[in-house]
Amino acid sequence: MNILDLPKLGPKTYELLKKLGINDIDDLITYYPFRYEIIKYSNISEVSNGDKVIFGGIIESTPQVFYIKKSLNRLTFNFNSNGRLFKVVIFNRAFLKSNLKLGKEITVFGKIDFLHNQITASDIWLHPLEKEETIGIYHTTYGLSNKQLKSFIDSALELDFNIVDYIPSYLSEKYKFLNKKEAIYLLHHPNNIKLLKQALLRAKYEELFIYMLKMNVLKQNKNKKTGIKREIDESKILAFINNLPFKLTSDQLKAISDIKDDLTSPYIMNRLLQGDVGSGKTIVSIISMYMNYLSGYSSALMAPTEILARQHYDNIKDLFKDTDIKVELLVGSMKKSEKTRIYKLLEDGSIDIIVGTHALISEGVNYKNLGLVITDEQHRFGVRQRSMLKDKGIEPDVLYMSATPIPRTYALTIYGDMDVSSIKTMPSGRLPVITTIKKKKEMKEVLTSVYEELKKGHQVYVVAPSIEDSEDTVMENVEELEKNFNKAFGKVFKVSALHGKMNDSEKETIMNDFKDNKIQVLISTTVIEVGVDVKNATMMVIFDANRFGLSQLHQLRGRVGRNSEQSYCILISDYEIERLNVLTKTNDGFKVSEEDFKLRGSGDLFGSRQSGDLLFKVANIKQDFNILLKAKEDSNEFLTSDYFKNNTYPELNKIVKDISYLN
Ligand code: ADP
Ligand code: MG
Repeated sequence: MNILDLPKLGPKTYELLKKLGINDIDDLITYYPFRYEIIKYSNISEVSNGDKVIFGGIIESTPQVFYIKKSLNRLTFNFNSNGRLFKVVIFNRAFLKSNLKLGKEITVFGKIDFLHNQITASDIWLHPLEKEETIGIYHTTYGLSNKQLKSFIDSALELDFNIVDYIPSYLSEKYKFLNKKEAIYLLHHPNNIKLLKQALLRAKYEELFIYMLKMNVLKQNKNKKTGIKREIDESKILAFINNLPFKLTSDQLKAISDIKDDLTSPYIMNRLLQGDVGSGKTIVSIISMYMNYLSGYSSALMAPTEILARQHYDNIKDLFKDTDIKVELLVGSMKKSEKTRIYKLLEDGSIDIIVGTHALISEGVNYKNLGLVITDEQHRFGVRQRSMLKDKGIEPDVLYMSATPIPRTYALTIYGDMDVSSIKTMPSGRLPVITTIKKKKEMKEVLTSVYEELKKGHQVYVVAPSIEDSEDTVMENVEELEKNFNKAFGKVFKVSALHGKMNDSEKETIMNDFKDNKIQVLISTTVIEVGVDVKNATMMVIFDANRFGLSQLHQLRGRVGRNSEQSYCILISDYEIERLNVLTKTNDGFKVSEEDFKLRGSGDLFGSRQSGDLLFKVANIKQDFNILLKAKEDSNEFLTSDYFKNNTYPELNKIVKDISYLN
């Protein structure tokens, strides 16, 4: 059955589902909650200001709706919960108005503000709670509520669906796992905690079993694949290094030497270069490309965003300006004629270094002589991307660069198929960024600090979370911040914002103006998170900081502290101060990631759902490490068993075959 045949699921909703990685019915029913919540009324005597609460009560005034702008409305009404009166505010639920009748008994979910006796609601149920309920919470996207998503899942579950069970039956029997269909149903209908646990265990095991199966195959093949064996003229590399405006750190030199060994060996390179934000990975990648060039091959450097690709391009072009090395850029927003020109050059092999985004591996791009592919700020290629290169008939050496270091025990298991180089020391002369946390009501102080930096001739980043990331809209948004910062500084300094709606050339103009110090305050969502390098920026102010993961905040603040001046990061939040405090205490990305690991599980570390093949649906590398180890052992055994030889479980053999092909 087609997913579009489900009731109330039209093309628009389908687009939203696709954003979540749900393309068909199978994806939908295996889109499990990322956590479970026990729903019961909060006890008001145990609630503090700013807490999330669930209150039952009665509607005491006819709801009012205000349309703030086309895509934003606010509904408010008075609400009596056990004799206490609150004002309830909820965004983008104008459609609820007709159901919220005076005197109706409802349940309100939201954040409480005792000072104003207000609840900013994230959800409203049109009935009181009968008893304690466990519900699943799904990751969703702007425009698609948990409830809607759940109702689609429920309609799909009513179908007579068929789903592959990847766990070999002998293992299912050994561990007494639930049947897969039953487990799926339970994961979405967690009525019984004991059964839910069994269902979760089964789902986690299956996921980790498949992952470890692939990993074991990759590992077996590691360092066995023959690739390009290069001759590299070392004196030229040394000359290049000596000409740099700075002295490379010993970790950078070690990484370069690791890579040189890989490139000159007859085996294919599959290396991860990890190093904290600002540790200087880029120059290592550039020297790698230079070595590749010296041996007669071309290189591709792939960045996750156009801004970053352009920045790398400018840098590289500048570094090689006195040489014959031909550097070009390829990004999605370029004119068709321009792209066609680049395609031609790539096809005849006359570009030595091509820098770009995913456009580099899109259809229609063919390479001649591509010897090295480097991906920046990505944990690794998504499987599809790697196969796209392979489909083009090329198997270059690959270097992945990542600024999110993960603790060693996990790294060994997760990245088992890759070699790892780490840059642990920062370039000398850097001062750690001083990080502080401020409440929203302390905004005056924040603005004073911003002014201090501006007066020194420095520049400032201001970051707000993207509204799309959240379920409610009660947060600072870029447009409002732009207005307010302009009010404060607009007379003397140039304040500009990067909006999501801008096209790429508009964004580029703003970025370039910021780089050239024509803009002093740059406001944006997290588009600047990755990689941007403007040395004169010495302060970053992050609004609604509690909305971000610690690693992500650490990445963000890595945009400052890039020269010898003291830099600052101000986190603005009224909530989760304790968690955020980790950042005020350390500038060490490894420590931050370890804390993140503890607090949020691995999900956040591996970035958003879209990024590659390392994100698990239900498993959590840290909490489920024991299951992972079991899955590792079992999958290894499976690979040497007769089941594998005899193709007893064709679905598993297919996975093995596909991953071997990719490798
Ligand atoms: P990241 O590892 O986060 O990608 P970058 O490669 O962007 O970091 O480097 C951060 C900044 O440090 C850049 O401006 C770069 O030119 C500079 N840099 C790199 N290596 C050194 C070094 N050894 N000494 C001084 N500055 C360096
Ligand atoms: Mg970088």
